[in-house]
Amino acid sequence: YQDMNSEQELKEYIFNILEELKKDYYINSIKLSVSASIGVSFYPEDGTSYGELFKAADIAMNRAKEMGKNRTQFFTNEMKNDIYEIIMIESELRSAIENDEFVIYYQPQFEMDSGRLCGFEALIRWINPRRGFVPPNKFIPQAEKNQLIIPIGDWVLETAADFLNEITALGYKDIEISVNVSVVQLMCEDYVDKVLDVLHRKNINPKNIKLEITESVMMESIEDILHKIGRLSGQGIFFSLDDFGTGYSSLTYLKKIPIKVLKIDKSFVDTITEKDGDKEILSSIIDLAHNIHLDVIAEGIEERQQLDWLKDRGCNVGQGFFMGKPMPKESAIRELGKNIYSED
Ligand code: C2E
Ligand code: MG
Ligand code: MG
Repeated sequence: YQDMNSEQELKEYIFNILEELKKDYYINSIKLSVSASIGVSFYPEDGTSYGELFKAADIAMNRAKEMGKNRTQFFTNEMKNDIYEIIMIESELRSAIENDEFVIYYQPQFEMDSGRLCGFEALIRWINPRRGFVPPNKFIPQAEKNQLIIPIGDWVLETAADFLNEITALGYKDIEISVNVSVVQLMCEDYVDKVLDVLHRKNINPKNIKLEITESVMMESIEDILHKIGRLSGQGIFFSLDDFGTGYSSLTYLKKIPIKVLKIDKSFVDTITEKDGDKEILSSIIDLAHNIHLDVIAEGIEERQQLDWLKDRGCNVGQGFFMGKPMPKESAIRELGKNIYSED
């Protein structure tokens, strides 16, 4: 490491790092190619302590990654607000569980064939006295970075399990509750035991709980995660692959993981009604899934036309604003027994 006196000097230094990394590396005669995203912060403009400078560089690096990786990004003034915001959200998230600020909304899912309400997806909401209603996309990614998703995820599963027991007590015994699970949770040593403990303590039939994982999840520590999914499905818990078709579309995983349901992303459903949409692709995905004995759920159905098309193509279950938005528990209970075909 060296002292640097000018931006030019620094740029040369970074250039040399990137040049060095561009070379191929060999480990056990396997060729490895590496790329780097670099974030840069300056003393004293961007921070006066190691912690501040590091956080600034980290934010700049994340921006570099977002902009396509293998590049360098300097910390800028407009990123200053990001730092403040990150620190604030983190401390507020920490107290959110104790302060009872989370609620779960439930979005109904319907069997395409019969029109029967067959399940709900549990979707977390954060209602903070100062911020108001915070959508999950605004805090889940950060909760994953700082591990807070672990206690939050525990709370979601416990709460969803209580809801399931409540509707079972009302006489609805074949409703499935889908719970979103983050890779960070799956990577925890004790995740499997924790899930089994909740089901046992609350006397839940595992077939009424479905765990939704996203494809991005599958990329890291794949073997370890496969093993955990295998253990849980061995106990009768179903898995579904969320947001299928976005991000890392890795058909190879489909055969490897013991999932039961493929959940087609809204972006595909959106195109059904468009002239040159992905209808053929979507049709093939449904067939492919059925060929390997997976059920298909379509999410983000907003129009009658989309529903009809998906039903026609043999999609098994549908979810979307057209049939019902995510709603508080009390409203969800009123939806029980609903049939989308017998109302109009
Ligand atoms: P997701 O699991 O793919 O959930 C579906 C999202 O699509 C939900 O957004 C839902 O409100 C929305 N949606 C459903 N139907 C429609 C529709 O017809 N039109 C439109 N425009 N949107 C529709 P939401 O609730 O904002 O959740 C966003 C994401 O946050 C979820 O995507 C999920 O990845 C994550 N998330 C939510 N709750 C949890 C949780 O408890 N744990 C974890 N790890 N992630 C969660
Ligand atoms: Mg989901
Ligand atoms: Mg999804």
